[in-house]
Amino acid sequence: MAVSDTVVSADLIDGKAFAQGLRGRVAAAVADLKRKQGLTPGLAVVLVGEDPASQVYVRSKGRQTVEAGMNSFEHRLPETTSQDELLAKVAELNADPAVHGILVQLPLPAQIDSQTVIAAIDPDKDVDGFHVINAGRLMTGASGAAAPLVPCTPLGCLLLLKDRLGDLSGLTAVVVGRSNIVGKPMAQLLVAESCTVTVAHSRTRDLPAVCRGADILVAAVGRPQMIKGDWVKPGATVIDVGINRIDVEDGKTRLVGDVAFDEAAAVAGAITPVPGGVGPMTIACLLANTVTAACRSAGLPLPDFGTG
Ligand code: NDP
Repeated sequence: MAVSDTVVSADLIDGKAFAQGLRGRVAAAVADLKRKQGLTPGLAVVLVGEDPASQVYVRSKGRQTVEAGMNSFEHRLPETTSQDELLAKVAELNADPAVHGILVQLPLPAQIDSQTVIAAIDPDKDVDGFHVINAGRLMTGASGAAAPLVPCTPLGCLLLLKDRLGDLSGLTAVVVGRSNIVGKPMAQLLVAESCTVTVAHSRTRDLPAVCRGADILVAAVGRPQMIKGDWVKPGATVIDVGINRIDVEDGKTRLVGDVAFDEAAAVAGAITPVPGGVGPMTIACLLANTVTAACRSAGLPLPDFGTG
């Protein structure tokens, strides 16, 4: 369908504005912690190598950490770093009381096994929420002092969904994608909200029909505009996690999601745009997780960002 033929009837879910609000709440909590407790949360980000996209993410994370009033510790290691050298860096950060959150930027160079590195991060500083302890806590619904640090992207999706829909209980949700960083934790979060959840993937039979059953459709696939308008149930809420760069005319490129936006927006009740939907939520949730980790390490009550 050509863009000009399209009628966008869905409400746009403005992740950029929501993320800005969340960052404001994080900054207020940080100011409070500094004033009342003398505690400044600190986030350490480790970047190995020169991957251009990773460099952009790391810069952005560092800038937003500082803007929220927190300490940002950036560690850049050469592409040739060995796994043992990276593990030594992680051990140093685990032991540093000024560091409350540790993030090792993925992907890592081929000589390093990312699972081994993630497993070495102190689970209470694992603000990416990728450690098996946090995955297990999420799966078992652990709460209170044992509550998980939740992966930032699915956490951001959940916040947008709750903001839009309120109580999610009883809704049918389909998550397309089963990665450890997006699809699986997203499904767990929706189960915890009492949704009826289907996780679809590359072997799913008749994916369009499966998607058409969804009140909540989350696309985390990595295939540009794969999910078409006629896969969307009328009135559904569509969360597009995908970030794909495609070629357009004159050698230019643009970012698109995993959902064919114009088609889907003509059918859905609400939809996240790409860019400006889920993307900005990821770093905002990372900052929130860092404050949560800092409070927990100091035995303080956890601030309520709506993320708990
Ligand atoms: P992965 O490549 O790890 O996982 C992709 C998933 O999609 C897999 O489970 C795969 O199935 C499934 N899949 C692939 N092809 C199909 C298909 N034809 N039909 C149905 N399912 C399919 O990706 P990620 O989860 O890491 O990322 C997904 C997308 O989200 C990417 O575009 C990424 O850039 C974006 N992203 C955005 C973030 C943000 O901040 N907004 C953060 C993280 C990711 P199978 O398991 O069977 O192979």
